[in-house]
Amino acid sequence: MIDLTRAQFMRRFALGLGLSLMVAACGGADTGTGDAPEAGGGVLKVATEPAFPPFESQGADGELEGFDIDLMTAIGETAGLEIQFESLPFDGIIPALQAGTVDAAISGMTITEERAKTVDFSSPYFKAGLAIAVQEGTDDIAGFEDLEGKKIAVQIGTTGASEAAKIPGAEISTFDSAPLALQELVNGNVDAVINDAPVTLFAISSDNLTGLKVVGELLTEEFYGIALPKDSENLAAVNEALASMIADGTYAEIYQEWFGAEPPTLPESAF
Ligand code: GLN
Repeated sequence: MIDLTRAQFMRRFALGLGLSLMVAACGGADTGTGDAPEAGGGVLKVATEPAFPPFESQGADGELEGFDIDLMTAIGETAGLEIQFESLPFDGIIPALQAGTVDAAISGMTITEERAKTVDFSSPYFKAGLAIAVQEGTDDIAGFEDLEGKKIAVQIGTTGASEAAKIPGAEISTFDSAPLALQELVNGNVDAVINDAPVTLFAISSDNLTGLKVVGELLTEEFYGIALPKDSENLAAVNEALASMIADGTYAEIYQEWFGAEPPTLPESAF
């Protein structure tokens, strides 16, 4: 595999995922009006792990912000449901859905066959994939096959952690959040991080983490979905709201706000 500069990677990523300059124009979308929903009146408790910018994070004032937050808020407005966000660790989200302590989750969560055995997913709402990050000076890791026997940091319970588990002889350290895994790489304690490409690229470009680059090609193509308990009565309403927001341009508006690009066409199902 070839070693791409960040600019080249961004271009490929943009072409491949239908995003361009996704790290530009990451201002907050002002979709939350605070008004009561017009119809329905039900409350939807929605879990999220708010350390995954630009999808979900906590602003300086402690308020949740991000693409997922704006999307879910707009889904609530469209479906007539009041959204109440609840912050949970990422690996606690599926157990909470199973226990019924939350009604849904939006957290950059990849729709996987494994997870779909225990929770229901909405239609795909975002196309992503996993990327390898290394320190800028690294010249012996250009792709997945070079990770054999290396030290790798991942976020616990994620698709990145599953992918890392496939590497022979790798020494894996797990962290509660993606920024912590990336910080470990900045500190020089690991050789690489496997994490969702949009989040890694955002972190690299945001100046919070310096001296990192992304190498190789995306390891996977993944689609994010909103997760709900099995057989949730809210699944149809969430899907209908998402479909109508895609059709009427609301989805594209939120996407533009966070990624500065037209959204790619999404498949009806992830697999
Ligand atoms: N998309 C990845 C997954 O679903 C990571 C999600 C996250 O860390 N919020 O496993």
